[in-house]
Amino acid sequence: MTTENHKLQLPRKLANQILAHAQQNPETEICGLISSKNEHALCYYPIPNTADNSAVRFQMDEQAQIEAMKQIREHHEELLAIVHSHPHSDAIPSALDEQDHQYPDAYYLIVSLNTTGVLDLRAFKQIEGHFQPIELILEHPSN
Ligand SMILES: [Zn+2]
Repeated sequence: MTTENHKLQLPRKLANQILAHAQQNPETEICGLISSKNEHALCYYPIPNTADNSAVRFQMDEQAQIEAMKQIREHHEELLAIVHSHPHSDAIPSALDEQDHQYPDAYYLIVSLNTTGVLDLRAFKQIEGHFQPIELILEHPSN
């Protein structure tokens, strides 16, 4: 992990992929994984949400999650972040998110569709079991 834990840099291309995935599924929380290589965010792996109440909760499809983790390892990448969307609420962790979290070492990225056209994508990290906001910096393509 980086020594700088309070900032997360994300290529704008990845942010756009996440937003597109969320916008294509406006009534379902989308979810996925972001990998990194040499501490740089690299790829977005979308994962089907198999939660019964998928409008307000996400549960990653177990097989797809295992497969994505396998690809991440095979590409010599690391798991950087868990992504999900909030179709009708703000981009802050819900009580269910606090309850469901699986990866204490990963960042959590939440994209909200409850906005007026502006990308609302926020990053969090669990510190002592609670989500704390992390500064998210979108990198331009030239970087
Ligand atoms: Zn959530």
